Amino acid sequence: MGHATVIDGGAVAAGLRRCAAEIAARLRDEQGVTAGLATVLVGDDRASEVYIRAKGRACAGSGLAAFDIRLPADISDTRLVAEVEKLNVDDRVDGVLVQLPLPRQIDPHRVIAAIDPAKDVDGFHPVNVGRLWSGLPTLVPCTPQGCLRLLRSVHQDLAGADAVVLGRSNIVGKPLTALLLAADCTVTVIHSKSKVVPVMCRRADILIAATGQPKLVKADWVKPGSTVIDVGINPVADPEGRSRLVGDVDYASVRAVAGAITPVPGGVGPMTIACLLLNTLLAACRRRGIPDPYFGVL
Ligand code: NDP
Repeated sequence: MGHATVIDGGAVAAGLRRCAAEIAARLRDEQGVTAGLATVLVGDDRASEVYIRAKGRACAGSGLAAFDIRLPADISDTRLVAEVEKLNVDDRVDGVLVQLPLPRQIDPHRVIAAIDPAKDVDGFHPVNVGRLWSGLPTLVPCTPQGCLRLLRSVHQDLAGADAVVLGRSNIVGKPLTALLLAADCTVTVIHSKSKVVPVMCRRADILIAATGQPKLVKADWVKPGSTVIDVGINPVADPEGRSRLVGDVDYASVRAVAGAITPVPGGVGPMTIACLLLNTLLAACRRRGIPDPYFGVL
């Protein structure tokens, strides 16, 4: 069996970031607008800090303004909502992103619902979720958007493809399901209570793993020649005790069966931030009634 094509998420994401930089420059030169992203980090979760810093760097690299809001871990729902509301009315801010997970005392649904849907660059606000499922223009969640863009880099036409999504979270699995349906795939969604999972997966022309279970997907779960997208980012200790990242797919064995596969790291991961930049620019255009001709349709 031959080796799968490795889908280079780093390269696709770099292209999108260049595209974001061009759009940002045009917005500045032609409209006098500097698009801005505000990130809100509550507490000092280390992984969240790393993500927030990466988002700030990406903004700077593409000519967007970044506003880095840090709040104490013991903040109340009400105060956090008040901070979000300040950003909603700040004209320099086009995108508002509250980094998840939030500390236990905070109801994430209440905070997400407080974000102005027009600035909700994560696409998690119920209004935007509803718009996504209704097929209306929205801000498409970044990680699922990244998955679709990677799929489109290897498939001209997704219509009629059997897609299996492992995972049903609000952040990845569910929005991805909506996007695949919109692309005319036949979609099966699998979760922790699903039965005969390997059999279901083996039917997939497109298999997307977003479970948070390291190396869950084995070679005999995969239809030969199919496309496998690995969303998982799982820190595991190697035999020397060093931490490294693995996906939800057993890459070494699955690569010998699949037709195309994303690596971890270097697959979906870099796409998420690139899509966040695009969403911020899209929000900046829409908020001002500027047509958004530069954006590819998903
Ligand atoms: P969640 O933990 O919120 O959801 C995991 C989903 O997988 C749940 O729906 C769960 O089912 C399902 N699941 C868990 N175990 C199994 C199993 N053995 N068989 C079938 N289904 C299972 O995770 P997220 O969606 O937030 O993230 C998933 C992965 O993607 C993680 O590794 C995360 O780190 C990564 N991630 C990567 C991003 C990126 O930028 N590349 C961004 C976001 C996440 P149930 O609903 O029944 O519990």
